[in-house]
Amino acid sequence: MRELAFQAIDVAKMLGAEYADIRIIDDATENISVKNGIQNVSRGMDIGFGVRVIVDGAWGYAASPKLTKDEIEKTTKLAVEIAKASATLKKEPVRLAYEPPHRDKWNSTYIIDPFKVPLEKKLDLLLTVDKILRSDERIVVASGELSFWREHQLFVSSEGAEIEQTHLRSGGGYSATAVDRKTGEIQTRSYPGVQGDQYMQLGWEAIESYDYIGNAERVRDEAIALLSAEPCPTGEMDIIIDGNQLALQIHESLGHPSELDRVLGMEANYAGTSFLTTEKLGNFKYGSDIVNIVADGTAPGGLATIGYDDDGVRSQRWFLVKDGIFSGYLTNRELAHTIGEERSRGANRADGWRSIPMIRMTNISLMPGTWNLDDLIVDTKDGIFVSTNKSWSIDQHRLNFQFTTEIGWLIENGKLTKMIKNPTYQGITPQFWNSCDAICDDKHWMLWGVPNCGKGQPGQRAEMSHGAAPARFRKIKVGL
Ligand SMILES: [Zn+2]
Repeated sequence: MRELAFQAIDVAKMLGAEYADIRIIDDATENISVKNGIQNVSRGMDIGFGVRVIVDGAWGYAASPKLTKDEIEKTTKLAVEIAKASATLKKEPVRLAYEPPHRDKWNSTYIIDPFKVPLEKKLDLLLTVDKILRSDERIVVASGELSFWREHQLFVSSEGAEIEQTHLRSGGGYSATAVDRKTGEIQTRSYPGVQGDQYMQLGWEAIESYDYIGNAERVRDEAIALLSAEPCPTGEMDIIIDGNQLALQIHESLGHPSELDRVLGMEANYAGTSFLTTEKLGNFKYGSDIVNIVADGTAPGGLATIGYDDDGVRSQRWFLVKDGIFSGYLTNRELAHTIGEERSRGANRADGWRSIPMIRMTNISLMPGTWNLDDLIVDTKDGIFVSTNKSWSIDQHRLNFQFTTEIGWLIENGKLTKMIKNPTYQGITPQFWNSCDAICDDKHWMLWGVPNCGKGQPGQRAEMSHGAAPARFRKIKVGL
């Protein structure tokens, strides 16, 4: 494999490339699902490489699944041709921020290899949950899944970098959908993640750290109870948002808008550009003084935790929002200079060997505050508590948003009272984060995985985690 990697670099240099890198990736996946008792198991292996070059100041990229000497040569030549064609259209030559050429091996940590856990054990877990969920006839759909992914990547660059990394990610979850046949009402509850599934960069122990079976009755009963729950009140209210919902709030209202390629107008797909324009860096009051949001490519168990990104840049931890002030962007080697930074933040990642890397979110987390959740509820006179994302929408600048969660409860005189269905809240990003007046402490804080973030055209998938504890926001528009 190493030889093939160095061959690509040699060929690229011979053909006049100013810079070249290659990523050779092989991965293995296992997906197990049970839907209304029906089992499905799929396993996959994938291997391939992608060569990225700069010729005459422009990028070229080509990829292939065939790991042979001939194919390396052919694919590298193609990447060079593409770069030459792109160079005729370029406005400015690509400028890469300095990065020392790292030579390193990096493996994500885990305790139990999920690929060695017997299939029967995995199916048993899902079937036991399925049986509990469907023990009431009002549950019409019960579905659960477990998913495991190991990715091995060799990165070699013309600058002398040689980095080998292995990532192991595990996750799963389940949901129950209840139907009231008389009214046609449909309600779903899920466990344990942001939208049902929870993924971490760990082994089988990630699955075992959750009580799948112990929560199944509650999930079933809540789905059924939601059928006859009261609707969400309307108006302005104080709202306590659970960590699993806040994770997606962070993702959509800070993660995507702080991607520097969006900010510069180079990327506009999937709810597009960004209101966080560059003159705001270091002075814009994004949130209240207690809002501290950190980007962290080193967070233990985070889905975007890496040794090095696909530019060969070492992973880092930095503030996006510090004491409420917007303080940093997600950058790569190509764009760091556009905001006057000399080094990349290491947020360039590709979806496998087929895709060219682009700026992707690393793990982005709201730092814990000082509150205990029970005390925070007692301190809230009139409001709602909402949990687990159901749907969301956000405008092209990532300013106006609306979220719906699976479940909520009224808070009346400091007590959680009635369950409410289809809780919705809406806001304008900076106003919303400026209304945050309480964040729960580290005992309530955890990393929530987002395994399917989409970006780019053609679309690329990426995964990342968001740490959050429940937090309170004052006078938020709720209901429709
Ligand atoms: Zn996303």
